[in-house]
Amino acid sequence: MARIPIDLSKGKLKEAEKTTDNIIIGIDLGTTNSLVAYLKDGKPNVITDSDGQNTLVPSIIHFEQDNSVIVGTDAIEKLISDPSNTIFSIKRLMAKSFQDVEDFKNFFSYKIIDNDVEDSLVKIRVRDKFYTPVELSAKILEQLKKRIEKSLDVVVSKAVITVPAYFNDAQRQATRDAGKLAGLEVLRIVNEPTAASLAYGIGLDADDVKTVAVYDLGGGTFDISILNIEHGIFEVLATNGDTFLGGDDFDRAIQQYWVSEYGFNLDNNVALSQQLRLAAEAAKKSFSVNTSFETRINDQLCKIDRSTFEKLVKPLVERTIIACGNAIKDAEISIDSIDEVIMVGGSTRMSIVQDFVSDFFQKELNNDLNPDEVVALGAAVQADVLAGNNKDILLLDVTPLSLGIETIGGLMDTIIARNTKVPIKAGREYTTSVDGQKNLKVAVFQGERDLVSDNRKLGEFVLRGIPPMAAGIPKIEIHFLLNADGILNVRAKELRSGVEQTVEMRSPYGISEEEMGRMLLESVQNAKGDIAVRALIEARTEAQTVINASHKFVKQNASILSPEEIDRTILLVQKLEDATSKEDKDIIQACMEDLNEYTTPLAHRALDANISDAMKGKKL
Ligand code: ADP
Ligand code: MG
Repeated sequence: MARIPIDLSKGKLKEAEKTTDNIIIGIDLGTTNSLVAYLKDGKPNVITDSDGQNTLVPSIIHFEQDNSVIVGTDAIEKLISDPSNTIFSIKRLMAKSFQDVEDFKNFFSYKIIDNDVEDSLVKIRVRDKFYTPVELSAKILEQLKKRIEKSLDVVVSKAVITVPAYFNDAQRQATRDAGKLAGLEVLRIVNEPTAASLAYGIGLDADDVKTVAVYDLGGGTFDISILNIEHGIFEVLATNGDTFLGGDDFDRAIQQYWVSEYGFNLDNNVALSQQLRLAAEAAKKSFSVNTSFETRINDQLCKIDRSTFEKLVKPLVERTIIACGNAIKDAEISIDSIDEVIMVGGSTRMSIVQDFVSDFFQKELNNDLNPDEVVALGAAVQADVLAGNNKDILLLDVTPLSLGIETIGGLMDTIIARNTKVPIKAGREYTTSVDGQKNLKVAVFQGERDLVSDNRKLGEFVLRGIPPMAAGIPKIEIHFLLNADGILNVRAKELRSGVEQTVEMRSPYGISEEEMGRMLLESVQNAKGDIAVRALIEARTEAQTVINASHKFVKQNASILSPEEIDRTILLVQKLEDATSKEDKDIIQACMEDLNEYTTPLAHRALDANISDAMKGKKL
């Protein structure tokens, strides 16, 4: 059984002379800001920009006319001057489908695409290119990697990346993929509250048994997590929060106050509203030290004092406290069994927040560390543990390579990610791609590459006897159980009919360390190409679904559509079909979008017609 990650130094990395292999970096990939840290002489350090000033990299990506990118501080002003080509809050879109984000799509100033295929993931359109949230997050990670490599003059290839405790499996996998695309081997995905605890040294002692509350108020999101820590194992007892409550709302409260107080007219005046927003944030931050603030905006003296500010924002703070109460309830514990309260996120600098939180928990707060940095610092501590530098910490047995199954187009779909501690149970639901499909082949692979042909096959079997149903209707759960002895049991079950089969696979560990090192190295070196191939295959698969659906649609609604509409639809379908034989995913996406845009109003009309038919009693 493998104990800790594989040493990549045994492979031949191109820039081998420069690689300092024991450096594993810790990354906080935030909604608003991202940071990178590493452990130096036993102390975690956050890396600053080249002026030695800023530790934060704003999570903003701007695309220039020629599609080159600017990431971070320099991209901030583009939010106003070029909003449709400037991406912010990409973390909110990780592994999300259009249905997931439909209710808040107006929050984004850039274009989010959905191809109307059930469960298809969102893409972002920037001019004529389409990007996935994974690709965009990778741009931020690349920036962080560059920053630390420049600062330390080494090549870095391994990282620990943090995610919110409430992130699901798909969001975690997407974060791993982003790391890989940025040229980083992601040794572990760590929960943000776990990292924050580690930064305070909580849980580092193997004898520690503690219940911890982590209160994280960032730029746009709030979450509270209750953790149970026992012998180096962090268990999330409950999480709660509000994904649309954060520092931005506090800024907006001041801005609105000034607008009503001084009668600013913001209609069609983006520049003024931006100026007010920035001044409002400055006012908010100033209250960490001062009791009043004033500034001049367009010859108007704008003032606010701290007590007025606190009156304005009290309802916001109260909402976070309600969420804390709910988390405690869900965790089924009492407030006094909480041993530590940890403050995370830039917005916890506000004294009104600190007062309410310590009042609620009846405790002194852990807030000595910089709340912007605490998650990144903890990620660096975790990275150091993984590097094996901290001998006191218990290392759990982990699975050395990812385990997954082959999906359409020969793609690897990871079910148990590498470095997951064992024993572990994990599963995911799949469906059929052909009408009336009776059998489903389940092929199990091990490895980090995107195409199964580059990974190692552990075995395969066929689930037989699925009752005939239309494509997409069967619900087939593939369930992996990897026990502590490294035996993998795979179960496939069609949930509607109950048809199931279980097969024991040969040990995923029958592989030499050298072989494993080679596989990992190749996965990092080939990440860019692999992900491009995956994107192309996925676009083709999606296009095929859209083509089939469009044919069906035209056939079923021939009486409702005009001959021109039918011709035009068929023409657009033909164009899409032609595009799928090309090697360019952006062309496929663009054709899909054209078709979708054209047929959406037709589909609405068809739906209305069918409903009114049904009302007339013709159909039911
Ligand atoms: P995220 O985790 O969402 O990436 P951060 O933890 O970096 O966000 O928090 C960013 C927020 O912290 C911003 O809204 C910013 O205005 C706020 N912030 C930073 N410093 C202060 C301060 N001194 N007082 C109040 N809010 C602050
Ligand atoms: Mg954060």
